[in-house]
Amino acid sequence: MADKKFCTAVVLAAGQGKRMGAKVAKQYLEIAKKPLLYYTLRAFEQSPPIDTVLLVVGDAQQQSYCRKEIVDAYGLQKVDTIIIGGKERYDSVWRALTTIQRDMGASAREGYVFIHDGARPMVTEEIVERCLEAAAQYGACAAAMPVKDTIKLADENGFGVSTPRRDLLWTVQTPQVFSFGLIRQAYQKMMDTKAQWEQEGLRITDDAMVLEHFADQNVKLVEGSYENIKVTTPEDLKIVQMFLEKNS
Ligand code: C5P
Repeated sequence: MADKKFCTAVVLAAGQGKRMGAKVAKQYLEIAKKPLLYYTLRAFEQSPPIDTVLLVVGDAQQQSYCRKEIVDAYGLQKVDTIIIGGKERYDSVWRALTTIQRDMGASAREGYVFIHDGARPMVTEEIVERCLEAAAQYGACAAAMPVKDTIKLADENGFGVSTPRRDLLWTVQTPQVFSFGLIRQAYQKMMDTKAQWEQEGLRITDDAMVLEHFADQNVKLVEGSYENIKVTTPEDLKIVQMFLEKNS
């Protein structure tokens, strides 16, 4: 790409991972003696389009652990900045976007931001490349895969009430990639109107949603992979271990 824009990867690792039921947050659980987060960071380190990585962690202790035991220990040169996130995932993203706006150069503000869950270590260079291509064309995209199961919409009592057309349903992953200005503006609007949408019961669970609600723009869904799972419950860790062994 002749006029490739600057690409910042924001890797989110500030969650507590309560659904894992472990004492250690899921992104620090080890596979082959290395923390899960290492594999995620390595994928961005090895992806040529990525210029810099901004890592978001839970607290100051995690900040120094990541700097010493992951970034320095494995020589990850793209991880420039490690910041502390917020209560919700969207708070962590907002802090990252604010850091880019305030502390990074004009090229970062005019480029693309790849927002990625630290708990998805199976992201690949190919996914990064596909996302960049779609972001350049559409301004906003998200890695996703067609669902395999039939999906039901249920009522509050757990009764299925309708069945959406399966061929239109996708399971959405990360990276989700945006022109920086576009996603920052949408997040600004979301944060400015938080009291209102919270009262209406809106729950923000990914970044594509922020554009849908606060920017009037839809994101292009790009082929991710069925291996690009988010480690959420203990069985996910075993699956990822198997994938990593297969690929090494
Ligand atoms: O909670 P969920 O599984 O959606 O989290 C997705 C990613 O966002 C995880 O990698 C988690 O560490 C991160 N996260 C965060 N800040 C939060 C909550 C989640 O960085 N407050």
